[in-house]
Amino acid sequence: MERRGEFRVSVSKDYLVFASAHFITFAGHRCEGLHGHNYRARVTIDGRLNEESWFVFDFVELKRIMRGLCDEIDHLVLLPTQSDRVQVREDGDNVHVAVDNRPRYLFPRRDCALLPIPNTTVEMLAEMLIDRLRVALEKAGASGLTAIEMEVEESFGQSATCRVTI
Ligand SMILES: [Zn+2]
Repeated sequence: MERRGEFRVSVSKDYLVFASAHFITFAGHRCEGLHGHNYRARVTIDGRLNEESWFVFDFVELKRIMRGLCDEIDHLVLLPTQSDRVQVREDGDNVHVAVDNRPRYLFPRRDCALLPIPNTTVEMLAEMLIDRLRVALEKAGASGLTAIEMEVEESFGQSATCRVTI
């Protein structure tokens, strides 16, 4: 039988949780105070069937990789290192955070995740997780993948989705 279908595999939210603190900046001078979310992620991978195993990618492996990516930022303060407005400076065991050049927070370095994004919105977190997942999938020998879609939810009914075609 010829296989003409397109295939996708998903791993979803209840399994992929990270509880983290953040604050985001808005256009103008507005900036949130520090607060936390129980973030949940859902990932979908599109691709061709691997014709030895007849799957797109191994669920067990995908869950393991995604769980690792969530653990990397779980229970940490998420800080953007590419923001024009938030200045994040490492100083020994500490991280100094200023907003619009005014000192605002001092955190222990071990409690922070310094992320290469311009703002810790769910959009940017989704894009970053896709980047990290792509690297991990390549290392795991994935082939034939055509797209990755990542949804990150910060509270019930409030999420952003990023889709990258490979
Ligand atoms: Zn928030």
